[in-house]
Amino acid sequence: MTTSNDARLRLDSLAVHAGREDLQSLGVHASPIDLSSTNPLPDVESGGDAYERLATGGDLGDGSAVYQRLWNPTVARFERALAALEGAEAAVAFASGMAAVTAVLTAAKQRRGAHVVAVRPLYGGTDHLLATGLLGTETTFVDDVEHVARAVRADTGLVVAETPGNPTLELIDLQALVAAAQGAPVLVDNTFATPVLQRPLDHGVALSLHSATKYIGGHGDVLGGVVACDAAWARALRPVRAITGAIAHPFSAYLMHRGLQTLPLRVRAQQEGARRVVAALQGMSAVREVRYPGLAACDPSGLVGEGKQMAGPGSMIAIDLGSSSRAAAVAESVRLFTHAVSLGSVDSLIQHPASLTHRPVAAEARPHAGVLRLSIGLEDPGDLIADLEQAIAAAS
Ligand SMILES: *Cc1c(COP(=O)(O)O)cnc(C)c1O
Repeated sequence: MTTSNDARLRLDSLAVHAGREDLQSLGVHASPIDLSSTNPLPDVESGGDAYERLATGGDLGDGSAVYQRLWNPTVARFERALAALEGAEAAVAFASGMAAVTAVLTAAKQRRGAHVVAVRPLYGGTDHLLATGLLGTETTFVDDVEHVARAVRADTGLVVAETPGNPTLELIDLQALVAAAQGAPVLVDNTFATPVLQRPLDHGVALSLHSATKYIGGHGDVLGGVVACDAAWARALRPVRAITGAIAHPFSAYLMHRGLQTLPLRVRAQQEGARRVVAALQGMSAVREVRYPGLAACDPSGLVGEGKQMAGPGSMIAIDLGSSSRAAAVAESVRLFTHAVSLGSVDSLIQHPASLTHRPVAAEARPHAGVLRLSIGLEDPGDLIADLEQAIAAAS
């Protein structure tokens, strides 16, 4: 019988089995979706004890789950599985990636201080949340790791970064980032890499966050978020999640957990497709620049490759077509790609970050207007290349 903390199991085996330890004893093969919004209490005293334990961030133990906003077995299964894949003690799942970011910022503010150092580029929504100070945080934005050390203060509660960065795929050396943070906890948005290609906690990062809406769900049909961290951070995040009502729905958790089973296969196949699309894009004269972590120009520090920080380059690509109008024309001319925001799905997506995902970002930090972001799916790469060729021809 496999368990999620079975150190002998490799990633592909954990992806299939982790979080499913109780299924045998339940007499089922697939995970049940536990929809109960409330749970019977054996008696007032033990019900009260369970409530107290869960509301303060503790584990379920033998007690009642009390109420779905506090604890849900389907959500907990997904959390155990994701923690196993990230090499983390725990994970906490949320209704969306942004709900996860909100909870981490809130907990960091409570635990350490309201100042945040954020390395740009970031996902537009995260940048926007930090720039507005909506949660009472104060953010110093920096453009690279070299400037992190100078920006950290005594009241810095969190250092926030993304690698590869959204949308232009800048890479960050996580060990250097952790050193520059000087003891302040580091949050890395691992959405683009997934635990298949990168495990931030192995490099001293405190919190690895995912928009599970993307590769983890993988089919464009679920919104969710998750944070992998140590037990102390999980204890701090769960009460924030309970108070703000941000827990993932059990059906979403079921889909995210199921998504993990094929995550390694999908990530590797999509990466192979992306490599072929990148090679073709490099030969197209209308494309001014191709950005992809597998290209030497995007990886000056040599962070990508077998046994390195990022085991492979992934399946996100950015291309610069020189102008907003050309980029828009290409996005509007594709037939096999879907012109839509989001990423990491089995089907390929294309979008214009400056108009869409990065619209709320300050002008000086917004991606170039000629940039399109591509998320490569599982279609035949030859068909994807032909679609890009016809779209670029139509746009010229
Ligand atoms: C989509 C995304 C988010 C936000 O996640 P939601 O699930 O849409 O709330 C955060 N970070 C990155 C890198 C993303 O791509």
